[in-house]
Amino acid sequence: MANRLCYDKRFIAKEEKPLSLSRNRILTTHVGSLPRPQDVVDLLFAQDKGEPYDSARFDETMQRAVRDAVKKQADAGIDFVSDGEMSKISYATYIRHRLTGFEPGNVPRATPQDLDDFPEYRDKIASMGATPKYLRPICKGPIGVKNLAPLHADIEHLKNAVSETPGVEGFMTAASPGTIAVFQPNEFYPSHEAYLEALAGAMREEYETIVNSGLILSVDCPDLGMGRHIRFRDVDDDEFVRNAHLQVEALNHALANVPADRVRMHICWGNYEGPHTRDIPLAKVLGALFKAKPSQLLIEGANPRHEHEWELWKSHKLPAGKTLVPGVLDTSCNFVEHPQLVAQRILRYAELVGRDRVIAGTDCGFGTFAGFGAVYPTLCWMKLRSLREGADIASKELWAKTAPAGKKAASAKRASGKPSPKKASPKPAKKKASVKKTARKR
Ligand SMILES: [Zn+2]
Repeated sequence: MANRLCYDKRFIAKEEKPLSLSRNRILTTHVGSLPRPQDVVDLLFAQDKGEPYDSARFDETMQRAVRDAVKKQADAGIDFVSDGEMSKISYATYIRHRLTGFEPGNVPRATPQDLDDFPEYRDKIASMGATPKYLRPICKGPIGVKNLAPLHADIEHLKNAVSETPGVEGFMTAASPGTIAVFQPNEFYPSHEAYLEALAGAMREEYETIVNSGLILSVDCPDLGMGRHIRFRDVDDDEFVRNAHLQVEALNHALANVPADRVRMHICWGNYEGPHTRDIPLAKVLGALFKAKPSQLLIEGANPRHEHEWELWKSHKLPAGKTLVPGVLDTSCNFVEHPQLVAQRILRYAELVGRDRVIAGTDCGFGTFAGFGAVYPTLCWMKLRSLREGADIASKELWAKTAPAGKKAASAKRASGKPSPKKASPKPAKKKASVKKTARKR
């Protein structure tokens, strides 16, 4: 098993200076998945269906696609870049190629409760291709590590691409034990706890391998949000939260040997355009999130059902050592957010938790599963450019050379929602005032 000795910050600093140490502007990232080119999609579906394919061509195609994705992210101004999950058909089911115990099966896929509330709408979006078509892995035997070759290939592809692209740092996504346990049916283990424990034991090798390679690990945890209205739809919030804590414990167990500052986690309520009226409020799961080991929390914050939750940070203190990566781009629609709006969103968080503890992110991925993404690929890159522009606008304001004490006091009042007693002077503060004024209204 890998151990911490392999992880050496000095080596990483020499090879690729960690961006996380750069603190004079708002850094940018996204959740992980990106639109896949058609040749990638075709290969992934052939692999998923068990059809023959040329493995050398597979490898070559993935490397090319990852290089291209990293270049596009860098061109858009993204600081922490991913491989776009090119080699994965979806963020969680890829595990069946890496772990023992899973077999593809035909268990019906559960739909989110908010879509079942409106069956005509649910059927309409399903007919438009918004539901996954890949095979669903079912746990039918003991879980263990089967094959880490696909992981090593992913790491190599991303590291190659990052080393050719100055100024970016790479992160790699992986499914959390809770996400696999909540969304992949279990027909073998006697309980959810036993299933989680087995997954934590098996996934820790993937997590440690990613961190030891020098990449940042980004653990996907939609189980802590979306799990409520799919798997746990028939229980109450308390029961869901109790299980969320178990899932976080399993994650922490699997991350025992990796440093918290090299791990981030993403939670969301499902990257689909639905009513989301069954989403559990963020406030109810914050306790579980705060107990999780990863240092960065990537949480939806831009879509119309969760944007208001930025206000939670007025009454909830972000634990020491944690950084917030709020979604400031909605990944379920094709509107390209105006950079000024992106800046307003960033400023709201920065004023509440501190400019050094915010990284601008996205609500979810742009290609949750291969061949499907709600956002048209060209618009995805436009959105990411807008993210950069908005982060630059916010940085200008946050690192403006004003007297820190006065600025802090004004910011604190603004963040508390109380109007500032000081009227903005018309000239020097005009640009800033327009951002702040709108922020107050929200
Ligand atoms: Zn997500």
